[in-house]
Amino acid sequence: MNKKRKERIECHKKLCEWSKLVRQRDGNQCQICGRKDFIISHHIIPKELKQFALDLNNGVALCRKCHKYNFSISPHRNALAFCFWLQKVKPSQYDYLKSFLEPITKPEEAKLGGDEIRTKDL
Ligand SMILES: [Zn+2]
Repeated sequence: MNKKRKERIECHKKLCEWSKLVRQRDGNQCQICGRKDFIISHHIIPKELKQFALDLNNGVALCRKCHKYNFSISPHRNALAFCFWLQKVKPSQYDYLKSFLEPITKPEEAKLGGDEIRTKDL
């Protein structure tokens, strides 16, 4: 197995563990509607920004409908409404993430990204 493939598999394992921990923290329940089936862990800041990929504060448990299909609040269908919801329902999580995203208003100062996945939360 080549090095790149090995790294991809290791990364997948870490993301699976992150997902499991987020769902456990949130009681295996959709944090928007309360459903307990088809629960996934949503990355609030995209996991492609690797510094947040394994940060438990960057995850929220959602059902499939609230995750992708609910036009009134889904982070994939109505990102602004989802942000308002997050701010109101999970203010400490919102404030934590906001502290990293504020530099985006000045893109030249943004320090998002990076090559290493943070593992401190796992
Ligand atoms: Zn839901």
